[in-house]
Amino acid sequence: MIVGAGMAGVQTAVALRELGWRDGITLLGDEPHPPYDRPPLSKAVLLGAAGAGVDVRFDVDFDALGVDLRLGLRAQALHAEDRHLVTDAGPLPYDHLVLATGAYPVALPGTAGLPGVHLLRTLDDAAALRPVLDARQQVVVVGAGWIGAEFATAARQAGCEVTVVEAAERPLAGVLPEVVTSRMRAWYEEAGVDLRTGTPVSAVEPGAVVLADGSRLAAAAVVVGVGARPATGWLAGSGVRLGDDGAVLADDRLRTTAPGVFAVGDCASFPSARYGERMLIHHWDNALQGPRTAAANVLGGDEPYDPVPYFWSEQFGRFVQYAGHHTDADTLLLRGDPSTAAWSVCWLRGDGRLAAVLAVDRPRDLAQARKLITRSATVDPSLAADPAVPLTAA
Ligand code: FAD
Repeated sequence: MIVGAGMAGVQTAVALRELGWRDGITLLGDEPHPPYDRPPLSKAVLLGAAGAGVDVRFDVDFDALGVDLRLGLRAQALHAEDRHLVTDAGPLPYDHLVLATGAYPVALPGTAGLPGVHLLRTLDDAAALRPVLDARQQVVVVGAGWIGAEFATAARQAGCEVTVVEAAERPLAGVLPEVVTSRMRAWYEEAGVDLRTGTPVSAVEPGAVVLADGSRLAAAAVVVGVGARPATGWLAGSGVRLGDDGAVLADDRLRTTAPGVFAVGDCASFPSARYGERMLIHHWDNALQGPRTAAANVLGGDEPYDPVPYFWSEQFGRFVQYAGHHTDADTLLLRGDPSTAAWSVCWLRGDGRLAAVLAVDRPRDLAQARKLITRSATVDPSLAADPAVPLTAA
């Protein structure tokens, strides 16, 4: 039994069959739509007039795979001690359970149900935003994170007047250092987006967003992109332990604290030996890789999960990619000039190992660095800082 029919749930079903699982597979999803991919929702689906016709469904034949797909059905509770789920349609027993319920977007307090206020997580959310773009409405985006930047890109391309409001002093402040984000600030300006940083929102009213400094921004539509939280509330009291961040606390085999229950994708954190810390990753590649390990372990294997995290973002006409994981203690190396079109940043551990890379329109840097990070290779800092030299091990 798999709960959650997003990327991680679907990939778990596919991996189970590929690895030889012969018994039944039930895949439960609370959304009414056939399972679909989320990254295009803030990109192709919103970009251009053709966006509405983009098919985001996964190219998976569930019947041929022998997967019993139950859509529009929600798991309400888990009774791990006698291995059954409580669902909208009554109890469902299982032998093995994989939790893949993903995450839900964090809303601004007091805005639930307010007309004109949007989140961007689901196909329905994206469908509700298309008319905003088609009508070139005046938009205020709350949050200059990955989703906020991608939505602002699409909205500007559609001809909307766009203001992005960010409580921190710079975009992506919690994720990337100033040398990187100061350049990103320029991307907003070049795209004609009014970026207001260091100004939290104090209220959202019909037709307006009010900031803590008293300024009032007219807004026909407000798009909130202030993060996501694991969709695990239904597991309270189930015997599956959750962390303070709401994530299922999986072990390094993606097992949970309940027997026979595994967890993958956006809903779960796991301990990384590679990085020496527990990681909660809300990116597509983790929802692709984790299911192979979980499926192997459901089948009785003993496979560890310790990926090199990877994600990409398409914003303001740029392809931004990141692989690895860095901390403030790592040494940052600029590889090229951030005021030019294409550049990268590398982070090195004290022992010279490459820990992470961020590449802006330099996919080759990303590919080379990802291999080096996977091998825990060290690099020569002066060569790594030279964008004309391929990234290689020292
Ligand atoms: P989800 O995709 O959230 O799927 C979980 C499913 O479980 C959902 O359908 C949910 O409704 C369902 N569910 C939840 N609770 C229950 C329940 N109790 N019972 C039954 N069903 C339940 N990542 C990148 O690396 N690059 C990108 O460019 C990128 N762009 C993105 C753009 C958008 C708009 C969004 C929203 C995400 C983007 N991501 C991107 C992140 C990536 O899409 C996610 O990491 C990935 O979808 C996680 O997959 P998942 O299966 O774990 O969770």
